[in-house]
Amino acid sequence: TFTVEQAINWLTKSNEKIQKNKDYLSELDQAIGDGDHGINMARGFDEVVKKLDGNDYEQVADVLKDAAMTLMSKVGGASGPLFGTAFLKISMAVKGEEAVTFGTFVKALEDAVAGVKQRGKAEEGEKTMIDVWSPMVERMKAADDFDASVIRDNAKSSMEATKDIVATKGRAAYLKERSKGHLDPGSVSSYYIFEALAESLE
Ligand code: ADP
Ligand code: MG
Ligand code: MG
Repeated sequence: TFTVEQAINWLTKSNEKIQKNKDYLSELDQAIGDGDHGINMARGFDEVVKKLDGNDYEQVADVLKDAAMTLMSKVGGASGPLFGTAFLKISMAVKGEEAVTFGTFVKALEDAVAGVKQRGKAEEGEKTMIDVWSPMVERMKAADDFDASVIRDNAKSSMEATKDIVATKGRAAYLKERSKGHLDPGSVSSYYIFEALAESLE
């Protein structure tokens, strides 16, 4: 199962990785966007950790809801509402379970992917964060319990694979063929988030 403590750990570790790689994330966005992805994510996750600090949570859903609302309200740019939607959908799907079972968690991630697709009017293969989140759901559906190394490996290979994709959504789409050869910034931050999830499970 996935507990409140693990959920808090997940977000705390996500924040640490994003802060540490803030400049790198913005550099990636400089190449194919407007150069603010590191700033956007770092501001959002800093606020998330501040929001969670000192609160007593009874359910994983409440932790993730606070995170979602904070990302939506504090992050400018496409990524705030998109990552906010992802965490909000997970929160909604795990509601009622104090410790979330693997089955519920996978279903919740599936809802998150559907929510991000709808919000961004995007599909897999368009060089967005969906290219990390969607294969993760498919991989986890094929597993029967939480497995940190499966999550880490899947996120890493999906993130790396965004390099070869021509962007058709987001700012990078303006570059057409020239977006190829660059990692998608939102997929790299998604990779940190899944790396943090893996660590919270260990
Ligand atoms: P902005 O593009 O508004 O400056 P960010 O730089 O913070 O916002 O975030 C860019 C990231 O958001 C991209 O790398 C991509 O992963 C993700 N993204 C952008 N547009 C979409 C979309 N329509 N659907 C899903 N994800 C998207
Ligand atoms: Mg940007
Ligand atoms: Mg921007």
